[in-house]
Amino acid sequence: MSQEQQVAERTRQAFLTGRTRPLKHRVSQLKALRRFIVEQQKDIAEALQKDLGKTEYGTQLYEMLGLEDEIKVALDHLAEWAAPRPVGKTLLTALDDVYIQPEPLGVVLIIGAWNYPWALTLQPLIGAIAAGNAVVVKPSEVCTHTAKVMEDLLPRYLDKELYPVVTGGASETQELLRQRFDHIFYTGSSAVGKLVMEAAARHLSPVTLELGGKSPCYVDKDCDLAVASRRITWGKFVNCGQTCIAPDYVLCEPGIQDRLLQEMRSCIKEFYTDDPKSFPDYGRIINQRHFQRVTALLEGSMVAIGGDSDESQCYIAPTVLRDVKPEAKVMQEEIFGPVLPILPVSGPDEAIRFINSREKPLVLYIFSSSNKVIKQMIAETSSGGVLANDCLVHYTVSALPFGGVGHSGMGRYHGKCTFDQLSNLRSCLIKTLSMEVVNKMRYPPHTAERLRW
Ligand code: NAD
Repeated sequence: MSQEQQVAERTRQAFLTGRTRPLKHRVSQLKALRRFIVEQQKDIAEALQKDLGKTEYGTQLYEMLGLEDEIKVALDHLAEWAAPRPVGKTLLTALDDVYIQPEPLGVVLIIGAWNYPWALTLQPLIGAIAAGNAVVVKPSEVCTHTAKVMEDLLPRYLDKELYPVVTGGASETQELLRQRFDHIFYTGSSAVGKLVMEAAARHLSPVTLELGGKSPCYVDKDCDLAVASRRITWGKFVNCGQTCIAPDYVLCEPGIQDRLLQEMRSCIKEFYTDDPKSFPDYGRIINQRHFQRVTALLEGSMVAIGGDSDESQCYIAPTVLRDVKPEAKVMQEEIFGPVLPILPVSGPDEAIRFINSREKPLVLYIFSSSNKVIKQMIAETSSGGVLANDCLVHYTVSALPFGGVGHSGMGRYHGKCTFDQLSNLRSCLIKTLSMEVVNKMRYPPHTAERLRW
């Protein structure tokens, strides 16, 4: 029996003891998870520094604060989320007790990605614990140091039989995927997402797939370009562009391209100085494979800002490309690095046509002062989420269901949505054995006399 099979079986046995069901247990585990985040912040930050060159401040801001907030939301609302939810009744059930009872699904497998390895692995874990599940946690092997800290330290805080951490790469993950789970929560590329869904189908396990893709950013000529540029520059280059919801490319009218470039150039200088390579707030590409992939995407396009790189440090400067053609190499796959192509379009109508001719993105960004343009773009396109006049911040609103559509994913999470996603929303109807007279009309024989009654 493989190690992965043993872990899956042990976790199921632990779930079957029933100890995840009482809310008291879930609350104590959520509090333990919060203690882990607070007490181990030094080790967590050091590991991320080694893996992605993130600063301690960046780790707090982009990973830990959101997790603490999510735990607080779960603790504040758990009793309400887990309570029976009464629903409207019909004439036939008017005297009955009719409600939805959320119950745990069972054993959930969480497969995390490397770019925000704590947020993307622990955020679904919070909802899974709140919903009363047992969870096998599989962090990304790409962030070696982070995976090690998670494997070594998390079991010191959580019930290790119910929430084991399994490390390893593709082959270990595939072995895990051969086991039966009651839900698989995957974050990563669309290509691996398909493998996960295929494996899940063998057991009829439901999946949540948090995938990527090219998130467009339309900049309308009717907008404050200085503010728009600041927000886009921040959203694109944070974590060195390795953010699933980073604006992938900009669409704008040719007449504003030069102004936009000028503003972005000054924002890059303001955020990362003239020398981003030596500036601690500017990160690195995760590894050489991704470094080579991202630098190869520059081929055939015109660099307007940045463009320099250093393979020995996996460094790629904040880079903006101008007058990019739809058929350019950089427009054929998700960039997932610090490269921002600008594609000229004639206005919102052409931008809409362009967006609709491609796979549905995880996010659509719209920068405009015109409410009419914003509403038109929302009405005539589709994406997992929409954000007007800012980048990334919709991710922090736990009341907004987060996720993709089509090739950018399926299923939603954050806040109550994770709880619901990882619960069986069981339909319950409880009737009394008395009052049989009310049911008379449904029993045969359906004589005319009975129908009159
Ligand atoms: P990754 O390489 O870390 O892979 C993710 C997980 O899949 C890892 O745990 C890994 O072990 C496993 N895996 C990799 N190859 C596998 C295989 N062949 N079989 C089984 N399991 C395998 O991360 P990645 O895929 O490079 O992540 C980047 C992608 O994830 C981007 O497309 C990005 O947009 C997307 N992403 C999406 C979200 C979101 O919330 N929607 C968040 C972050 C990243």
